Amino acid sequence: MDKISKNKTSKGAEEILLAQIKQEFTTPADAISDYLELVEKTLLEAQISMEDEIEQIKSGCKRLIDQYEEAFTENTGPNATTVKKTPEEYSELRHNLRTPLNAIIGYSEILIEDLEDDLSEESLKDLQSIIELSRETETAIENFVDYIRGEAIKTSEGDSQLESAESLFKSLGDINYSLELDESLEGADILIVDDNKTNCEVLERRLTMQGLQCRTAYDGTTAIKKVEEKLPDLILLDVILPDINGLELLKKFRSENTSENLPIIMVSAFNDVDGIAKCIQLGAQDYLPKPLNGTILLAKVISSLERKFFREREKELVNKLHIQATTDQLTGISNRRVVFEELENSYAELQSGHKKDFSVIMIDIDFFKSVNDTYGHSGGDEVLKAMANVLKNYISEPNIVGRIGGEEFLAVIFDQEDIETYCDNLRREIHTIKVFYEDHEISITASGGVAITSESGNASDVINKADERLYDAKKSGRDKFVIS
Ligand code: GH3
Ligand code: MG
Ligand code: MG
Repeated sequence: MDKISKNKTSKGAEEILLAQIKQEFTTPADAISDYLELVEKTLLEAQISMEDEIEQIKSGCKRLIDQYEEAFTENTGPNATTVKKTPEEYSELRHNLRTPLNAIIGYSEILIEDLEDDLSEESLKDLQSIIELSRETETAIENFVDYIRGEAIKTSEGDSQLESAESLFKSLGDINYSLELDESLEGADILIVDDNKTNCEVLERRLTMQGLQCRTAYDGTTAIKKVEEKLPDLILLDVILPDINGLELLKKFRSENTSENLPIIMVSAFNDVDGIAKCIQLGAQDYLPKPLNGTILLAKVISSLERKFFREREKELVNKLHIQATTDQLTGISNRRVVFEELENSYAELQSGHKKDFSVIMIDIDFFKSVNDTYGHSGGDEVLKAMANVLKNYISEPNIVGRIGGEEFLAVIFDQEDIETYCDNLRREIHTIKVFYEDHEISITASGGVAITSESGNASDVINKADERLYDAKKSGRDKFVIS
């Protein structure tokens, strides 16, 4: 491998290497200023006012160069500080040196999008060059920090690997960079958490341009408050915050919400593999390196939102199917399947000694056919709904009731010692039903048959007994519940 490390080089070679390292940064950094000047001039001539954006890029550029100069003097040459930094301090230095790039790249991308129709192709290319040059300075910063850390620096061989990777992607054809936001994602609520105001602004502008809604928080405490106010659809979370560490915040949000409910993408300039792995381990859905690339930002945001919205729709559908499969369509109470399943399960529990004896009540409306004959089928339907409503209110958990046929209902009662009084009260409750239908008031009675598990060998046996007693109730005058 063609790698050069600080420790292995002679003094003369080190000076050359240092000069190279610095040049690797200053060349693109100076060129950014040149291109910016060109763009500014063009805007002035075209009388387009974009002073704020230009000012942001300019001050970013100045900070970028000043900070690098300062770090370079402090860490290299004869007057370099000899105090060895900790890995965290190197990470922080790299982070700080790269921070101005967020504004430079972010605002250049915004200018390109805003001025797409107003600027010549040449001027747009100038802005594109600023972005590309920023990326070059980013690599140069990486190499500089690696160097002062005493780590090997990638040289030409690394570059040729990069080139071959590029040609590999080219061979796959043109990439479509236009990301269309699906209608269902419009208005999605994104919380941006970053202590750097410029970063927040750049992110917010990029995302709102696409039709997404953004809220911002400059510190962890505010972020927590905003999440409590309303759960966002996605959080873009900076790792370094003034009050609470971003990773701690991630842990907190994850302990309260699943990644399906609250996807979180970490955003940071700490670009090391361990850090990224840690974020994913702690439940981040993805990771975005700073300075942000607009296309990758959007791709990841959209894919995160799509995943969340798709899951939600899937859940809703499953819920709906479950409701359809378990409820009686006309009355909205449980259907035949649910009550029979509950009865079978409870019987099994009873036999294995996990449940006490319980009762089943078969209930049937008296002379229901004549209700239909007098008021029509829809009048009959209203009566069925009113009956179901009374049963549902009277028969409360852990007991259950369902409609098992036309005007037949089955209840399973677990918590009643005095089933006779319970049934008598139910019978009276049914008397109170008054259905107002086309200027008529319909009243009904019902009959029931009750059986207890202690007098039967299995679930169908207990139902048969209840059914027989219901028949007895009908035969002996109706409006009564027969228990034994
Ligand atoms: P009994 O007192 O002996 O139970 O007499 P009944 O008239 O209530 O019993 P029968 O079994 O003769 O009639 C039940 C009627 O219920 C017949 C059927 O048309 C009607 N029915 C069944 N399902 C529905 C429904 O969903 N809506 C309506 N409106 N009527 C229904
Ligand atoms: Mg009937
Ligand atoms: Mg019947």
